[in-house]
Amino acid sequence: MNYQNPDKNGYYGEFGGAFVAEMLYPNIKELQDNYLEIIYSDEFQREFKDLLKNYVGRETPLYFAPNLSEQYNTKIYLKREDLNHTGAHKINNALGQALLAKKLGKKRIIAETGAGQHGVATATACALMGLECIVYMGEVDMKRQAPNVARMEMLGAKVVPATSGSKTLKDAVNEALRDWINNPTTTHYIIGSSVGPHPFPDMVARFQSVISEEIKTQLKEQTGRENPDYVIACVGGGSNAAGTFYHFVNTPEVKIIAAEAGGLGINSGKSAATTALGTLGVLHGSQSLVMQTKDGQVIEPHSISAGLDYPGIGPMHANLYAQKRAEFMSVDDEDAVKSAFNLTKIEGIIPALESAHALSVLDKKKFNENDIVVICLSGRGDKDMETYLKHLND
Ligand SMILES: *Cc1c(COP(=O)(O)O)cnc(C)c1O
Repeated sequence: MNYQNPDKNGYYGEFGGAFVAEMLYPNIKELQDNYLEIIYSDEFQREFKDLLKNYVGRETPLYFAPNLSEQYNTKIYLKREDLNHTGAHKINNALGQALLAKKLGKKRIIAETGAGQHGVATATACALMGLECIVYMGEVDMKRQAPNVARMEMLGAKVVPATSGSKTLKDAVNEALRDWINNPTTTHYIIGSSVGPHPFPDMVARFQSVISEEIKTQLKEQTGRENPDYVIACVGGGSNAAGTFYHFVNTPEVKIIAAEAGGLGINSGKSAATTALGTLGVLHGSQSLVMQTKDGQVIEPHSISAGLDYPGIGPMHANLYAQKRAEFMSVDDEDAVKSAFNLTKIEGIIPALESAHALSVLDKKKFNENDIVVICLSGRGDKDMETYLKHLND
């Protein structure tokens, strides 16, 4: 099986596809028919690579973490996506899609955001490229993440509260999809993760695949081999994981581990561990694993990290799980916080809470002394200081 890309209808095994309202079909079709040709044109690649290098600050270091390696008695490398402009991997995708929108002649951009990280990345790309930007955000999240709301507004975006349902991320996605149905010709929807109707999961994975492309080159330079023994990343919708795994999924000797948010524990009723708790369903335009009741009502997820607080998972990852190509582990809130404090103390790097879930895998799995373990540090922890402060004296 080829794990990297979906078939022509957007399916990875039984997961994926494009389940959209009829009104949206022309938009989706336009994207499906054109995205590969546009993003692999010489002109696009030249502009995109130039932005990644000179605006985002790529390539990001692949850092051999000596103290962490000693602590776990294995060889640990951190892919430093936290050092990107705006503080996480999300900017790779936001810039790629904004550039694509321009090539399609769209002048208006909409996006959803949970914690505000994707909203900030999108508002940044739109400021740079002179595009109108509207960001849908759950009313509850707007209160929890006020500094990011301020950033988006300073960047010129309009932040619109989503007031339905639980007033959080999934409601913001619904609002964004509704907007797109009403403004199909003028607008491009920059989705923030490797989820949504085909071709979004594949397109986002391709924009993020620069992560594993760099890992291969950097690892070769540093160790003489381009394939690690393990790659590890956290999974919300799955974009940083898709980028980290992309160039390794068809190389069976590279073992893949995905860290999901266990929340207060998978049996606590307050969790976001989608592969552990989900069943086959359709959410936000694609068929995948979804946390839902027997009659298809989406179950509210919970995670201490807003970026992992999502009741679904991208179709690429659902397939990696179903085919047992990747191992999925759930990491509880408390363990993630512990791993964040540990990394900060011994390596001097404050990770995002999301990324800390990937670090926690080190406590759950035994690695050999000579294993090369690459972990994606998807973002920096500045945005999580309020949560970290609460645990400072634990
Ligand atoms: C948004 C976010 C995530 C989760 O999103 P994915 O699409 O699963 O990568 C992970 N880490 C950070 C730092 C984020 O901002």
